[in-house]
Amino acid sequence: MGRAFKIVILGGGVAAGYATLEFVKHGIPHGDLCIISEEAVAPYERPALSKGCLLPEGAAALPSFHTCVGVGAERQTPKWYKDHGMELVLSTRIKSVDVKKRTLLSAAGETITYKTLIIATGARVLRLEEFGVTGADADNICYLRDLEDANKLVQVMASCKGGMAVVIGGGYIGMECAAALVSNNIKVTMVFPEHHCMARLFTSEIAAFYEGYYRKRGVTFIKGTVMAAFESNEEKKVTAVVLKDGRHVEADMVVVGIGIRPNIGLFEGDVVTFPLKSYRDTRRLEHVDHARKSAAHAVQAIMSPEKVHEYDYLPFFYSRVFTLSWQFYGDNVGDCIMFGEPNDKKFGAFWVEKGHLVGAFLEGGNKEEYSALEKVARLKPCVLDLELLGRQGLAFPFTF
Ligand code: FAD
Ligand code: NDP
Repeated sequence: MGRAFKIVILGGGVAAGYATLEFVKHGIPHGDLCIISEEAVAPYERPALSKGCLLPEGAAALPSFHTCVGVGAERQTPKWYKDHGMELVLSTRIKSVDVKKRTLLSAAGETITYKTLIIATGARVLRLEEFGVTGADADNICYLRDLEDANKLVQVMASCKGGMAVVIGGGYIGMECAAALVSNNIKVTMVFPEHHCMARLFTSEIAAFYEGYYRKRGVTFIKGTVMAAFESNEEKKVTAVVLKDGRHVEADMVVVGIGIRPNIGLFEGDVVTFPLKSYRDTRRLEHVDHARKSAAHAVQAIMSPEKVHEYDYLPFFYSRVFTLSWQFYGDNVGDCIMFGEPNDKKFGAFWVEKGHLVGAFLEGGNKEEYSALEKVARLKPCVLDLELLGRQGLAFPFTF
């Protein structure tokens, strides 16, 4: 006989943390809920792993970034869960689910029964082995998804001070880790297949600003190619990265950020893609704001279904690197109109599709400016004159 709970949250990441906070707000009785997580620690704010945790001095460590400190709410330490009568089943991987019998089977053979299941299994990193790269299990190759990865990255960085790193991938992990490596006195070469960094969100003009900023801090960009193989020494450590175009790049360490895949293998279909009401579209969003808000929404739907509204989410992405910081709201489709002055480290862009503003980006904004951006991206106002919009720039969102 295994354990039984009224509500089980499968996964112990960001969504799990924010869901439990919402359950507490709804006055869930003690003993009703458990979180099952493969990780060894209570839910934490995953974004800290590529920011505060990698600082050369005064690095963030648990318990300081347990959820829900990311929105200024309570810090849910293991004691918090105990005090609220919630069970944390940690270091436990669920290997199968029987949705008809409402049971979960752990890798250790335990059965846990539920009445209601919240699936919050997040994602796993894509690994180089999946592209047929050999030698990708070397000790000085780092990925970054969980606390264990962050601890390893910190250790490897400490052993490479003054050395060289190759960062593979020009997305969020690549850009944030490259900045952290530079701050830790490690020289960085970034390698990615696109023509510029952050290709899914940035236009070439936006990317040019960030790449210029990184170059001034010694970062080299190798674009339009991917790695083909590693060269390693007898200690099984990578010493160089061989690129598809034949170049060799020396490396004391490697950081890989080539994307993620959602953990949906336990279920019979996609349990992650959801309807984005304002764009009449379905999407998968891999960002923390959606994890927090969709978790709270799911709990409202369980606890007070009569009061819950349709989930109407406005996409929101952000990043912080070095002393820079940007936010983006909405959708990056259609014509992109830049405004402001990149040299002043304050500039932005609007995206206009079919005569309506649909997306807004700003580097170096303040609280009021970012909330004006959010408002205008939600309103989707009509824009007839793109040149005028460019001239109005940041003044435009404040006219609403
Ligand atoms: P996760 O937080 O990934 O949690 C999933 C949990 O499920 C994990 O605990 C996992 O161990 C567990 N799990 C999975 N399968 C099983 C199983 N079979 N059995 C038991 N447990 C299981 N987003 C932003 O918007 N801004 C940022 O600045 C930002 N920074 C980031 C920095 C890093 C380093 C990373 C990795 C991500 C960052 N993100 C950021 C993305 C953001 O963290 C994710 O969107 C968010 O964590 C998703 O939350 P989640 O709860 O859905 O999944
Ligand atoms: P991303 O999808 O952001 O970026 C992956 C990058 O790697 C893309 O540029 C991709 O190119 C490139 N790539 C793919 N295959 C290869 C290859 N073989 N060699 C070199 N480059 C390759 O994923 P990340 O890994 O950067 O981030 C993982 C997750 O973490 C994402 O969900 C992200 O949202 C999240 N995250 C978010 C942060 C934030 O919001 N601030 C910070 C850190 C992480 P292509 O597009 O052509 O496939």
